[in-house]
Amino acid sequence: ATHPGFQALDCEGIKAYVAARPQLAKHVGSPDSSDDWQVREIGDGNINFVYVLEGPAGSLCVKQAPPYVRAAGESWPLTQDRVRIEAAVLAEEAAHCPQHVPALYHFDARMCIIAMQYLPPPHGIVRKGLIEGRTYPLLATHLASFLADTLFHTSLLAMPSDKFSANVARFSNVEMCRVSEQLIFTDPFFPAPRNRHTSPQLDADVATLHADVAARVAASRLKVKFTQQRQALIHADLHTGSIMATQDTTFVIDPEFAFYGPMGFDVGKILANLLLMYFACDGHATEADPRAQQREWLLSAVAELWAGFQRRFCELWRQHGAKGDACSASLFDAAASKEGSAAQQLAEQLFMAELWRDAVGFLGVVMLRRLVTFAHVADMDSIADADARAACERRALHFGRHVLANAAGVSSVQQLCDLAQAAR
Ligand code: ADP
Ligand code: MG
Ligand code: MG
Ligand code: MG
Repeated sequence: ATHPGFQALDCEGIKAYVAARPQLAKHVGSPDSSDDWQVREIGDGNINFVYVLEGPAGSLCVKQAPPYVRAAGESWPLTQDRVRIEAAVLAEEAAHCPQHVPALYHFDARMCIIAMQYLPPPHGIVRKGLIEGRTYPLLATHLASFLADTLFHTSLLAMPSDKFSANVARFSNVEMCRVSEQLIFTDPFFPAPRNRHTSPQLDADVATLHADVAARVAASRLKVKFTQQRQALIHADLHTGSIMATQDTTFVIDPEFAFYGPMGFDVGKILANLLLMYFACDGHATEADPRAQQREWLLSAVAELWAGFQRRFCELWRQHGAKGDACSASLFDAAASKEGSAAQQLAEQLFMAELWRDAVGFLGVVMLRRLVTFAHVADMDSIADADARAACERRALHFGRHVLANAAGVSSVQQLCDLAQAAR
């Protein structure tokens, strides 16, 4: 049902909305100058409407959530509570990692609007930049920090259990989770009505996937984990279209799917998207740019992201130490004694081994989903020649299927990268 009092605004409506609110207008210009403000709708996502306002004082980004999925229209209703989640998560992430999150200025529950810092050009959506052939030297390092900072600080390793439980409840996002459960963990394994794939080239591959018992069992275990494990506040939609970057800066946007879930999902989803582009490179290769360098960079970004995440997360864990007051899940003070140090080391190893296995499984299923269900990635879709596209997609499909069904056998990020290279 539409949120009571909700009204969809167009560019003129957004301008009037901002001009009537001094705390917002100040980012753009004095309200009497509003005739001269430029307002554009810039949304290119599947779900919401996004506007930028530019005026004499600067710029502002405004996002409004309709009661349905933009890409599907009113036939696919979607909870508008997702805006409350997005606002609360942007604020929570900024508390732990302000350098990688746009500043939140405003949340209006009735109108389902948030306003935030506009990230001006040369900031661009990473997926688009990658398709154009760009690389981002600091992306892996920045994302490693973003993930370690947000996941550690919202977990029981950093937080007393009463506050943790309150957070789990506050960030409950059941309806959005159900969308993910369906699209990511279920639809790849059935001929669901919204599914599509490059046809007829991939017909046989998709039929094989639908009959694949090992892949389906692995996915169903991950689906339970996704729904059941309350490990940290995860972004839950961390693909390359949710990241805006330059050569020096990286911002994570669009946390409307966030909830308390398994950390491995965020890690796996971003790695899956880097690998999808890796497999798409051949379809974008030209004589002038064979994309060899970009391909190499993508694999190094995968390796650096995981290594950097692990390093930073464990560093935070050690810094946090043992609180000894039943507030943190950590019982080890690495600095206090030899036993403390040994316990910390072993705890880190066990924790990271499980997180890595989860991440590998999740990355496999996320890759499959982007190749054979409703929402594809432009990395592949923008390869115009269907045979060339299908060849890239098939390699990605077989790789994703393999790591999903054999996650426990992929013991290191180096092995993952070797497998990707062999699969190409
Ligand atoms: P959706 O939920 O519909 O996917 P997004 O939050 O991903 O919406 O935003 C859609 C697009 O709007 C992004 O791909 C990006 O181009 C643009 N955008 C969103 N937020 C900002 C921002 N803070 N600054 C600049 N552009 C933005
Ligand atoms: Mg988006
Ligand atoms: Mg900021
Ligand atoms: Mg979104």
